[in-house]
Amino acid sequence: MRSLFFFLIVLGVFFLVMFAYSRFQTLQNRAEPKPKPEKSNEPMVKCEQCGVYLPQKEALVSADQKNDHAHYFCCKKHQQAFLKQKS
Ligand SMILES: [Zn+2]
Repeated sequence: MRSLFFFLIVLGVFFLVMFAYSRFQTLQNRAEPKPKPEKSNEPMVKCEQCGVYLPQKEALVSADQKNDHAHYFCCKKHQQAFLKQKS
């Protein structure tokens, strides 16, 4: 009778550990850092040449003196191509 009691306690502890472990794992999964869309609040600009959108920080800016409007480009090549087209 005593061994049965001991067996039940071991079984209870085992289930408790399993429960705690699975609980811990789900908490850990939830706490896992997801890739935050940090750039979402950054202003996006469009390349005047190919129309691709990119963060303003990474864009090349070409000021248009005529109508006080800035042109953005994804790369130097597109900036030069656009300026060549205009002139
Ligand atoms: Zn471009």
